[in-house]
Amino acid sequence: MSERRAELAAGLGAVRERLAAAATAAGRDPRRVVLVVVTKTFPASDVRLLAGLGVADAGESREPEASAKAAACADLPLRWHQVGRVQTNKAAAVAAWADVVHSVDRSRLAGALSRAAARTGRELGCFVQVSLDGDPARGGVAAQDLPALVDEVAAAPGLRLEGLMAVAPTGEDPARAFERLARLGERVRADHPGAGGLSAGMSEDLEAAVAVGATHVRVGRAVLGSRPAVQ
Ligand SMILES: *Cc1c(COP(=O)(O)O)cnc(C)c1O
Repeated sequence: MSERRAELAAGLGAVRERLAAAATAAGRDPRRVVLVVVTKTFPASDVRLLAGLGVADAGESREPEASAKAAACADLPLRWHQVGRVQTNKAAAVAAWADVVHSVDRSRLAGALSRAAARTGRELGCFVQVSLDGDPARGGVAAQDLPALVDEVAAAPGLRLEGLMAVAPTGEDPARAFERLARLGERVRADHPGAGGLSAGMSEDLEAAVAVGATHVRVGRAVLGSRPAVQ
């Protein structure tokens, strides 16, 4: 077993244990929480090792790194997730490799993804990213604009509304912030019963997310180790 494979196996094992413990504490089935391993900045060889360790969901964030890595790993049985913000002019590039986009936060982007998905003929899963702190720099639609964007994504050809996504604000207990996300998610599900997904939780706060019902956690460093400082 290569040294890197052993490292990744250890990181993955630790994260799976954390997820299982958090799910059990919340009275949930751990198998209902999708672990998206965020491989941005790490090489395609790591993605390949992770797939060999049973990872089924890989997350990426930036073009052209994401496109290149997905192409290099096209033979692997992976579901690909775009987790970071998407510039509108990159929507077509993202739609060409991603199965799910977690960061739909404005109407223009939804429209561009919908047109791109229509061209490829593939349905694109979409989480609408909501801002939990009202800071536009960190991405996410403001809570008051959320219902309109959710309805738009649900109605857009080629897009499948999955639910809501958020990043925990800095300087606030993530448990409190994720509670707000869960309440917003309940309202979405009342209007769109198929869209009960909640994408929340990263390396540092996955337990708080699982406690409020996260269906997808997006974990990078806790599996792969620290990234280069340029993030
Ligand atoms: C990088 C990233 C993650 C993973 O973060 P870690 O701290 O490495 O677990 C999750 N979500 C988004 C949106 C990201 O950009």
